[in-house]
Amino acid sequence: MGSLFRITLFAPDEVIARVAATNAFARVAELNRIMSDYDPESELMRLCRRPMGVPQRVSTELFDILERSQTLARQSDGAFDVTVGPLVQLWRNARRRKSLPSPQAIATARERVGYHHLKLNAPSRSVTLLAPEMKLDLGGIAKGYAADQALAVLRRYGITRAMCAASGDIAIGDPPPDKSGWRVGIGRMDARGDELEQTLLLHHAGISTSGDAEQFVEIDGVRYSHIVDPATGLGLTNRNQVTIIAPNATLTDGLATAVCVMGATRGLELIESLPKVSALIATLEPDGKRVIESRRFRAQTRAE
Ligand code: ADP
Ligand code: MG
Repeated sequence: MGSLFRITLFAPDEVIARVAATNAFARVAELNRIMSDYDPESELMRLCRRPMGVPQRVSTELFDILERSQTLARQSDGAFDVTVGPLVQLWRNARRRKSLPSPQAIATARERVGYHHLKLNAPSRSVTLLAPEMKLDLGGIAKGYAADQALAVLRRYGITRAMCAASGDIAIGDPPPDKSGWRVGIGRMDARGDELEQTLLLHHAGISTSGDAEQFVEIDGVRYSHIVDPATGLGLTNRNQVTIIAPNATLTDGLATAVCVMGATRGLELIESLPKVSALIATLEPDGKRVIESRRFRAQTRAE
């Protein structure tokens, strides 16, 4: 998944700790083989090569993450959309060449995008792609999913006091011994060095931060993010950093990407409508930085 994966855990002894961690990392590697969009032989990329309109049975993992992705697509009115692959590809190329995709290229790619073209059938666990040359991209949700799965593997070894982090997407279990939570820092988008916006205390939760990251291309003084707005086909140019806290990291990863696309106002409406979800949204505007917290943010970020 192109990112550093870190597991922190408390175990009764070193042998259990090593076995559990080794298996959790193996699970992440397995998920990467299924979901990678860089590996042409991943299950996901093989699925994308299937002829249009022909149902394909997929692994439980792939079906599960696609189902959660489609739920997020509906909830965010298409702001989160795993069918954005063709557009992401265009913007990746733009980054390499340092020039904008042509309007024609964007228009052509957009014909291949749209979550309505992705059909899931639960009883047969099959996936049908209804537009030509679709390309699915799980980059906005797979790291959170992998973090949740790594935590679940540890739990099978009786290890519950643990934290699994895929860079900005973190799954958190029981607190460390004698602590009320795990300390997680949110970086400041306008910071030099490693200044923090806030430090949170969390347990039994997922947390993700998206946006304004390292990944963007600057062309003619405008910054285009690696997150694409499916409604326009363009890389985001608004300067947002979104942190989401929710019961699991799959949800926080996807929602963080969605809220980046939706912007502070619409994004906050979505967050307030979902149970057990909260957000911290930092926006860089011409007159400075603005930080907004959702209603439940305070209550949710302090471990009892
Ligand atoms: P990061 O990778 O920086 O943690 P995200 O979780 O927000 O950030 O994921 C960004 C990735 O999600 C992009 O690199 C791309 O693969 C994918 N993506 C881009 N735009 C969208 C979108 N509108 N909906 C879903 N996934 C997207
Ligand atoms: Mg994400």
